[in-house]
Amino acid sequence: MVVAIVGAGLAGAACARALTSAGVRVQVHDRGLVPGGRMASRRLDGRYVDVGASYLTTRDEGFRAQVDDWVARGLARPWTDAFHLAGPDGVGGRKAGPLRYGSAGGLRSLVADLLAGIPVRQESVVAHVGPGPTLDGRAYDAVVLALPDPQAAPLLDPALGAERAAVQDRAWEPVLALAAAFAQRTWKVDGCFVEGSDVLGWIADDGRRRGDGAPVLVAHSTSPFAAQHLADPAAAGPAMVEALRGVLQLDAPQSTHVQRWTYARPVDAREDSFFLGEARVGLCGDGWGSPRVETAWVSGTRLGRALAERL
Ligand SMILES: Cc1cc2nc3c(=O)[nH]c(=O)nc-3n(C[C@H](O)[C@H](O)[C@H](O)COP(=O)(O)OP(=O)(O)OC[C@H]3O[C@@H](n4cnc5c(N)ncnc54)[C@H](O)[C@@H]3O)c2cc1C
Repeated sequence: MVVAIVGAGLAGAACARALTSAGVRVQVHDRGLVPGGRMASRRLDGRYVDVGASYLTTRDEGFRAQVDDWVARGLARPWTDAFHLAGPDGVGGRKAGPLRYGSAGGLRSLVADLLAGIPVRQESVVAHVGPGPTLDGRAYDAVVLALPDPQAAPLLDPALGAERAAVQDRAWEPVLALAAAFAQRTWKVDGCFVEGSDVLGWIADDGRRRGDGAPVLVAHSTSPFAAQHLADPAAAGPAMVEALRGVLQLDAPQSTHVQRWTYARPVDAREDSFFLGEARVGLCGDGWGSPRVETAWVSGTRLGRALAERL
């Protein structure tokens, strides 16, 4: 009995972990060089920077237990429960919210932790999922697609009508993430939501959330701005740097990197937390619920448990 899982982001990893815990063998495929998906890190001046998801929050009890375990083992760390609000020309007041968690090793390390001991084939680009089910022509007892809807839809054979209908024509929006390293820390915010800017929507202090104090910021663009620069994200760098400097009154950064997320988040949230039809092709990911890290874990875990029962 083997289940093939496409996607080694948090949803695929959680699904793989739930199936493995229930005694079901899995084979994970991911087209990236390393697991993590949108919980991604990139090297900037020899130091890893979180360029995808900024932080975790916990509402679901099961996910809270998972995060508590990561904290107890030193993998995740409480970051802050208050962010600032800012405009294009400066920072205003502070707003309290839920406790946010970061990770000293980068959020990607949490995905890698879930996948410990599980077979993962990286740089494995899956092209077709057919009835049977099959994955690129090979038969499996079940197949899971743990991907954004626009990445899942083209893989599904026309014979898988219910699965295709579940993911087709769902709009997702892009984001660009600017990582910027400075000579020194001159700002006093953990993170701030930017309102009234055409360019930026959010800024996070990567040194504070990772706990090493490095003078590194990550700024996320608005979706309309990202949509204009998808073909050449690096060309958006200067406008993003200028906007970032305006919000936090900064000197020029020493080095920068722009990361493109074509499918950063779905435009509309779903009620269901996964899809599993008669064809034994399951669908999960943060598109199943409101789009955040916790949703990806809940979606993957629930689908994994449902599949284990079915098999
Ligand atoms: C810029 C940005 C900021 C965010 N900020 C936050 C935040 O602060 N807090 C929060 O909770 N959430 C945040 N999120 C959302 C969070 O990152 C996602 O909810 C979560 O990481 C989604 O996980 P996933 O497993 O569903 O999908 P993904 O992480 O996208 O995983 C899908 C995987 O599938 C692989 N793949 C795709 N196509 C194929 C194929 N054909 N063959 C093989 N493999 C394939 C990809 O390589 C990828 O690894 C943010 C997202 C972005 C982009």
